[in-house]
Amino acid sequence: MSDDPTTVPVLDGGFLALDGAFASDLAVVNAARVSFNSTSSAMEERDEGLIRYLMRDRHGSPFEHGYFRFLVKAPIFVVREHHRHRAGHSYNEWSGRYSRIEAEFYVPDYVRTQVGKPGAYTFESVAPDVRESARAEIAGQAESAFAAYERMLEQGVAKEVARTVLPLSMFTKYFWSCNPRSLMHFCSLRNSEHAQFEIRQYAEAAEAFLAQLMPSTHAAFLANGRSAP
Ligand SMILES: Cc1cc2nc3c(=O)[nH]c(=O)nc-3n(C[C@H](O)[C@H](O)[C@H](O)COP(=O)(O)OP(=O)(O)OC[C@H]3O[C@@H](n4cnc5c(N)ncnc54)[C@H](O)[C@@H]3O)c2cc1C
Repeated sequence: MSDDPTTVPVLDGGFLALDGAFASDLAVVNAARVSFNSTSSAMEERDEGLIRYLMRDRHGSPFEHGYFRFLVKAPIFVVREHHRHRAGHSYNEWSGRYSRIEAEFYVPDYVRTQVGKPGAYTFESVAPDVRESARAEIAGQAESAFAAYERMLEQGVAKEVARTVLPLSMFTKYFWSCNPRSLMHFCSLRNSEHAQFEIRQYAEAAEAFLAQLMPSTHAAFLANGRSAP
């Protein structure tokens, strides 16, 4: 965590910041209790049990009455994975058509090789010399792409055309909003050993906010094998 507890540095140069939230375990409990025209004003032990029951028996809709709004800075290849999550998620992203893209790109610290079959890969760090040469390749290509981008802009080429040379490693920023149910679904898929290392770092950071704001819901999510209702 940085000094600002709502902003979590992620990867080298990125972050996930909680820009706003309206989320509580009590909202889950009351969404369920409305079925019996009753309401609770504070969490009690029996409410924890109710949350565990809802999670286990896949009564998912009471988990939709909350809201997390994040500001995210991430490389494009992470964003492509992230924005596949549609149900209960909203996104608004920095536009490379309207403003100049800054020459910021991600160079992986964890350079790995993949072993095994598709669907069952494991990853191992490469030898230090391979790591350094891969990092130099990634940085060199990105620098060259950004130099070409700047040259085209200087020649009057529109931003929307010049940006086509930019790499998957470039950083972008976007707002991401979701409800607790959709956040759990995202975390179950992306804060997972099957997810790519980089998106997993973002999912871990987002899940920590879920745990902080909705501790009983998060505990039930873990008890349910990290499966969203
Ligand atoms: C490890 C991993 C590897 C992946 N590899 C690939 C890949 O090789 N290629 C690729 O294209 N994608 C890949 N994906 C992306 C994946 O296929 C999903 O698009 C992504 O994980 C979002 O999941 P989702 O659709 O469940 O989420 P959401 O879009 O948030 O949807 C949530 C849930 O809503 C329901 N839902 C949403 N939309 C529909 C719909 N149109 N019809 C019916 N039900 C719907 C489903 O129950 C769904 O699970 C990968 C994801 C992971 C985690």
